Amino acid sequence: VSERGGTALLYFDDPYLKDFAAEVTKVVRGPSGTLIELDKTAFHPRGGGQPGDSGFLVEKSSGRKIRVSDTQVLDESIVHLLAEGEIPPIGTVEGVIDWDRRFLLMRLHTAEHILSKSLQKQLPDAGVEKIMLDESHGGKMFITPNTIPWKDLVAAEEASSRLIEEGIDVSTGFFESPALAKASFTELRIKEARLKDNDSVRVVSVGDFDAAACTGTHVRNTREIGFMKITGISAADDGTLELRFEVGDEALDTARRLANAALETSAVLKTAPDKIARTASNLKEDFNNLKEAFKNASRELSTNKVGSLAESIETIGDSRILIGNLYGLRREEVIEAANKLVKEDESLIAILVGGAHAPVLVLARGRKSEQIDLLPIGKMMCGILGGGCGGKSSFVSGCGTKAENVGEALNAARDGLIALLKKKDE
Ligand SMILES: [Zn+2]
Repeated sequence: VSERGGTALLYFDDPYLKDFAAEVTKVVRGPSGTLIELDKTAFHPRGGGQPGDSGFLVEKSSGRKIRVSDTQVLDESIVHLLAEGEIPPIGTVEGVIDWDRRFLLMRLHTAEHILSKSLQKQLPDAGVEKIMLDESHGGKMFITPNTIPWKDLVAAEEASSRLIEEGIDVSTGFFESPALAKASFTELRIKEARLKDNDSVRVVSVGDFDAAACTGTHVRNTREIGFMKITGISAADDGTLELRFEVGDEALDTARRLANAALETSAVLKTAPDKIARTASNLKEDFNNLKEAFKNASRELSTNKVGSLAESIETIGDSRILIGNLYGLRREEVIEAANKLVKEDESLIAILVGGAHAPVLVLARGRKSEQIDLLPIGKMMCGILGGGCGGKSSFVSGCGTKAENVGEALNAARDGLIALLKKKDE
């Protein structure tokens, strides 16, 4: 019997052990709650992507039932974390693990071994970086590279399903070192970076299909896994590909839901369910082409709008003024237009309003109109447009919220500017 921190590990000999008698050897009240150590346990601790077991400890002397919410390894000891408010047991206890939950985790864990190996056979460069098993959300595998063709995932799933249905025996064995384990299994999947030369290694074998170093709990025969389905793939934050899978009734429910979603989508797209991906990919390409065409058209429109502004230039004394409405153009386009106009015509004062959803205003003047301070006019316009602005006497930009006042703001700007120019000429 294996042992860790003074606790005999019953789950290694028999992962199907649901209840057992044990002695309480240590009670620790820590910041995370009350922790119980036992002389032996069937509760599997959290680790290697498998969550810790939950269940009950029944105090023999009183019959009192104490809830265990999690099992972990803490400083090399197996600790049973009591649920909040539970009073720790003393003496002899009967441990009872939440079997339905554990059995589901065992099925998920074994399915993960098979799927990992199938994927590796399909794509020798693919590697499973880490796994996460969860009784309510199924299993997750984080894979590199993060771009695996869908057809390879489907092929790995099919190969795994066939093997699961064949009913292959799963067995375990202990080796005194990674080197000895590797000598017995030429294709052993093992993360050696995590192991020291003299660490003992537990090898979990699925027939002669796969051998992997693993300390988790697994089923005895692959048929116990039941129906297995890849239920999602997405890019994970760490640059790997997150692949989700489920087993049994949960997998069937999800498969049914996904099949119905495919049927519904095929009705929307008016295409056969197995042609959805092709149709969606075509639609996406069409959309991108249209987007590009729209961008070109709006660029052309903005050039035309700016070009036609020249017709609105008025001459007041020595100055030339342009009050232009470019509503529909983006802020950068309006600024570009204003700068271009006053550079080409150094006597010009340009007051432009643009913007797509909310008005933006830009005031600029050429080098020969330096007596005119544009800031007061800009501020007055912002008052009418319900916004704010900033800049210097030669260039002002701002934005507003009241698109309906654009005409009024431009008229007021024109009146203000003509008054300023007349004052200057006097
Ligand atoms: Zn495992």
